[in-house]
Amino acid sequence: MTKYIFVTGGVVSSLGKGLAAASLGTLLEHRGLKVILQKFDPYLNVDPGTMSPFQHGEVYVLDDGAETDLDLGHYERFTSTNLSRLNNLTSGQVYTSVLQKERDGKYLGHTVQVIPHVTNEIKARIREVAERMGDGVIITEIGGTVGDIEGLPFLEAIRQFSLEVGHGNCIFIHTTLVPYLRAAGELKTKPTQQSIAKLREIGISPQIVLCRTELPLEPDVRHKLSMFCNVPIEGVIEARDVKNTIYEVPLKLHEERLDDLVCKLLNLEAPQPDLTRWRSFVQRVISPTHHVRIGVVGKYIELQDAYKSIYEALTHAGAANDAKVEIVKVDAESIEKAGPELYLAGLQGILIPGGFGDRGTEGKVIAARYAREHKVPYFGICLGMQIAVIEFARNVCGLKNANSTEFDPDGEHPVITLLDEQRQVVKKGGTMRLGTWVTDLEPGSKAFEIYHSATITERHRHRYEFNSAYKDQMEGRGLRISGASPDGKLAEIVEITDHPFFVACQFHPEFLSKPNHPHPMFFGFVKAALSNHLTKHQS
Ligand code: GLN
Repeated sequence: MTKYIFVTGGVVSSLGKGLAAASLGTLLEHRGLKVILQKFDPYLNVDPGTMSPFQHGEVYVLDDGAETDLDLGHYERFTSTNLSRLNNLTSGQVYTSVLQKERDGKYLGHTVQVIPHVTNEIKARIREVAERMGDGVIITEIGGTVGDIEGLPFLEAIRQFSLEVGHGNCIFIHTTLVPYLRAAGELKTKPTQQSIAKLREIGISPQIVLCRTELPLEPDVRHKLSMFCNVPIEGVIEARDVKNTIYEVPLKLHEERLDDLVCKLLNLEAPQPDLTRWRSFVQRVISPTHHVRIGVVGKYIELQDAYKSIYEALTHAGAANDAKVEIVKVDAESIEKAGPELYLAGLQGILIPGGFGDRGTEGKVIAARYAREHKVPYFGICLGMQIAVIEFARNVCGLKNANSTEFDPDGEHPVITLLDEQRQVVKKGGTMRLGTWVTDLEPGSKAFEIYHSATITERHRHRYEFNSAYKDQMEGRGLRISGASPDGKLAEIVEITDHPFFVACQFHPEFLSKPNHPHPMFFGFVKAALSNHLTKHQS
């Protein structure tokens, strides 16, 4: 039997709904239940792949190549599920499908309307996911804030759906903000009351209200919320800001007995969760023995969400190395202006993440050179690999003006370029090299040592590739291609042999890192950065 949990949000955005949903997923999975999480996004983009990080934060990529909302990253990190493109539904997808069916004459003369055609399309997706899953719990997060016009079809669809599957098989959890007003000296419940009233207007009565708050919810506040939100007292759940790490959230929600209540409401017989391993991971994040400073050189460093999975993967790798990773965010353009010393001296490792467009690329090239010459551990991801290749071509192979054709279309030395199949592509949405691809690793290389394996699969999201015309020249000077596609045509990993750790990959390993399963590349990089620290102190 499939059970359904719908998570909505009210009062403000950025409430951490995704984290709350993911954390509930953690708890239910630890109780032995099968869990799938998914997100409904009310915007009209078909997927976030065409959105700027300023609009959207990171675009998270799945095995099947779906470009999805970053909340799916939380879902995959907090549970063991492997999600697919079915798990992120946008209004753009819903309308594309409805309009296509209309053109195909599938509606047989009917007027096509939001209700029932759009809502049916949404319900059909939930059913499709349920059918594939069988027994288990589907947690669906509805993006946006209750009261937004564009969210209404989704809310109407889940209201209808809950009737269809019946009481005891479906619950609603509403996440809200309970703000503290300093002038009044108290927590205010009114925004929550009004947001729930808004939900009730459209026929949804949540059984659980998850209250984001900076301060503890005292019993009188809980009673008030219970009384005026029409939720039993045990359904008022405190979700206080966590002090140290987001991985504490499942533990806090468990203390609030959220998972007990969910199991009771859904008639699920499931033993108490054994959270020992999760707790010990959290403990390692909070109070590790060592400390390491890693610089992330990017152009979106002021945005909290642009490199989310990278920051999380560093945290996982830090915990596994018993080290706190201090992430120093370095703006690539500042390096262009003031040189590398000011920003990079004192860092034990330098990471250059993915990116698009030429703003800041020259600063990244300077950073890669600094890492190579000063023997600082370097980890390049996607654009970060392309930058490493450009730097090496220019400054070691003497190919002046070497560049990617993304930044210099007619340059003399296009060491990074488009393959023929990408040259034909004019449409922007979903047309990159996306999703899981196989890489063969060279025995004896650093990459091989890192993965302990001859074959790996990793997720991709890029258009440009290493130009194999330069392979021999680069390898001759010490930039080894240690990972390549099985046909040998595409360079997937490059490394510098005469360096403690200079490894860069064309794929995105950050999407496969989990709390208790740090990604080997991140683990190896943090380990190398830590020993860089030791050498400095000893000398
Ligand atoms: N802009 C580069 C490309 O498309 C790198 C992309 C990335 O870093 N994700 O190939």
